[in-house]
Amino acid sequence: MRKKIVAGNWKMNMDLTEGLKLAGSIDNYFKEKPLGKAGVILCTPFIHLASVSEILKHGKIALGAQNCASEASGAYTGEVSAWMVKSTGAEYVIIGHSERRTYYHEDDKLLNKKTLLAMNAGLKVIFCCGEVLSEREAKKHFIIVKRQLEEGLFSLTEEQMDNIIVAYEPVWAIGTGLTATPDQAQEMHQYIRTLVKEKYGNDCAKKLPILYGGSCKPSNAAEIFSKPDVDGGLIGGASLKKDDFVSIVEAL
Ligand code: PEP
Repeated sequence: MRKKIVAGNWKMNMDLTEGLKLAGSIDNYFKEKPLGKAGVILCTPFIHLASVSEILKHGKIALGAQNCASEASGAYTGEVSAWMVKSTGAEYVIIGHSERRTYYHEDDKLLNKKTLLAMNAGLKVIFCCGEVLSEREAKKHFIIVKRQLEEGLFSLTEEQMDNIIVAYEPVWAIGTGLTATPDQAQEMHQYIRTLVKEKYGNDCAKKLPILYGGSCKPSNAAEIFSKPDVDGGLIGGASLKKDDFVSIVEAL
């Protein structure tokens, strides 16, 4: 009953010309091939959004941003609001990626504010959570993820939760080549679903897509996606190459 999703996170890669070429080639590929129940989302840099939106307009692939401002509008030089993102044709935004938590010091309170603003703007949110290596080694990974969800997400109503996709991304696996084992991913995804069930009830927990992210590639995607609580992936590095990205979608 849950939607299966593969989302590509391009991060700060590719100029506009390169981005349009990649989006066009992925879009063309899936015009010919059935996507079945899988949803595909491309999360591009802000400057690509409006043009990629034109390319994806008549196809099956959705568009997302990788961030949005923590204020609705006004004198915030250099920021891009959730409403601006929405106005490009994007439907999704990633909030709480570990790179934003680490390099830009985005804490749970701020991420909660961004999530609410994004939803008010009509965007769906891919909400990222995950522990760093020292937290896993200290066996604190469940406590960390619980805190991130409780403080970042659990102020939402059950209705608002329909617009949420959770991405579990163990930080030690992002861009490192290290991947959580399928069992480690399943264990955390099941835990996340249990937390959501305790807070919002079984229906909400059953509907919630939970994606795995962290060095997911064509060679390991099928095994990770075979786990019952893994509903797809948030893909960084491998989303920059059309062949790798489409193989991951096909693994789903
Ligand atoms: C990510 O940045 O969300 C990610 C999962 O990156 P990678 O696939 O490169 O580890």
